[in-house]
Amino acid sequence: MSEERSLNFIEEIVEEDIREGKHGGRVLTRFPPEPNGYLHIGHAKSICLNFGLALKYGGQTNLRFDDTNPVKEDVEYVDSIKEDVKWLGFTWAKELYASDYFDQLYAFAVELIRQGLAYVDDSTPEQIAAQKGTPTEPGTGNEYRNRSIEENLRLFEEMKAGKYPDGAKVLRAKIDLASPNMHLRDPLMYRIKHAHHHRTGDQWCIYPMYDFAHGESDAIEEITHSVCTLEFIPHRPLYEWFIEKLGIFPSKQYEFARLNLNYTVMSKRKLLQLVDEKYVDGWDDPRMPTISGLRRRGYTPASIRDFCERIGIAKRENMIDVGLLEFCIREDLNKTAWRRMAVLDPIKLVITDYPEGKTEVFTGENNPEVEDGEGSRDIPFSRELWIEREDFMEEPPKKFFRLAVGNMVRLKSAYIVKCEGFKKDDNGNVTEVYCTHIAESRSGNDTSGINVKGTIHWVSVPDAKTVEVRLYDRLFRVEDPSSEEGDFKDYINPESLHILPQAYIEPDLANAVPGKGYQFIRKGYFTLDKNSTPDKLVFNRTVTLKDGWVKK
Ligand code: ATP
Ligand code: MG
Repeated sequence: MSEERSLNFIEEIVEEDIREGKHGGRVLTRFPPEPNGYLHIGHAKSICLNFGLALKYGGQTNLRFDDTNPVKEDVEYVDSIKEDVKWLGFTWAKELYASDYFDQLYAFAVELIRQGLAYVDDSTPEQIAAQKGTPTEPGTGNEYRNRSIEENLRLFEEMKAGKYPDGAKVLRAKIDLASPNMHLRDPLMYRIKHAHHHRTGDQWCIYPMYDFAHGESDAIEEITHSVCTLEFIPHRPLYEWFIEKLGIFPSKQYEFARLNLNYTVMSKRKLLQLVDEKYVDGWDDPRMPTISGLRRRGYTPASIRDFCERIGIAKRENMIDVGLLEFCIREDLNKTAWRRMAVLDPIKLVITDYPEGKTEVFTGENNPEVEDGEGSRDIPFSRELWIEREDFMEEPPKKFFRLAVGNMVRLKSAYIVKCEGFKKDDNGNVTEVYCTHIAESRSGNDTSGINVKGTIHWVSVPDAKTVEVRLYDRLFRVEDPSSEEGDFKDYINPESLHILPQAYIEPDLANAVPGKGYQFIRKGYFTLDKNSTPDKLVFNRTVTLKDGWVKK
């Protein structure tokens, strides 16, 4: 976190609370994911904010799974969420589950019934919606609202005991059917759902609603600052009402603007559709905005934290350009990635005056951005090399400083060569390029006195390993697929994945590990895909060297 930047508005609140000695100056935040999908870059913002506040003010953060909806939740999601939070570099104080509080929440509900502040309603969801009124018209009560405390206690217990089918009854808070805030018009607290829960099994057939479970879980944990996104502003009076009526720990809710990123979608429901309908290769497809997708793509935790820091914490929603995320990973990889040579679209270059069977070994620094270079690796050289097809031109334009008959270039870390000719196949495609080399121009010991304008990368043919390279583009063709007409999936970019089945890497890259960033010289930043096998290495392009996106 940079020290110079001014405080965001939530830090200002926390500092004020600490000055006033609220909660003894203690800071306890929580990150409360619902385990119904994988975390995405929007969650990263919430994670960085919640854990960042605790780190900055000597506090702690709980990881609380908001698992009150049994149908959509799964342990697979719980495990992935834990992995992602850890990977981002944060450590939670306690791993907790709202479902651990089901007994306590039930007791809270009974307490509210006893106070005459909650009642069992037999209406259908449609009737409840109709009786709620509209923002300009007050709601109307029904006969259930006047049930006695005793009857409500008995019915709620019977709901819990499984006496009623799904949807037959709900428990509602008795607040104010004329409130201008629709959330206060007798909101639901519990519903009946005979469903298996990933943690409590078949123990419960009634489940608390978000508004009831969330604030009460905060209070049970004595969370001091409960941070959520702006859409919960109208829920805040309800959050405070429950806490006040129950007389429990006064957690406070604060709201910030959610992260919206262009050229993607962020709702878990939509991401799940992309996975289920196989538009992508799972939640961690490198094109997905999920943390696991970004990781597989080659993003580093530091780059994601940097991104979250740069976008800041706002009170109003806006759209962040994905170019900023790409900028952050480029910044990081430029400092940390090891430099390697790989040829993505190969043609053969033959050095006609270099003896057949002769090999030399050049060395190249791993990382020229740091003083000691982080060591070096051997780069074998021989008479036949792979070079990029685009580095040779039969009829070059002016100022083409790469290979064309008569031109000289430096082969990175090796010799200067002069292009003498080329060969074409029957279709007119260039298949081989012929050069001679300047023996005195050996890199590191160049006595040739020749200056060339171009340097190209290469891989020695007998030493090269064949790999697959995957180039990714944005998953959607439009900035905000969710706001376009029709289905968001209609706007998927059909060219978001480009596979190069036969690229060549220098031999040292066979030691690559997933997550380690490599700069393929002149080609971009890459990482090994986690599903690679020794027989089939796959490299994912994390990001290009420069921003090459042209608005279409
Ligand atoms: P989705 O709408 O994608 O399903 P959600 O808000 O339901 O997301 P939760 O698992 O409930 O997902 O979110 C956990 C926490 O992350 C919440 O505090 C939520 O406010 C926060 N969060 C979710 N999406 C974003 C986002 N785009 N930007 C910032 N915070 C977010
Ligand atoms: Mg949610």
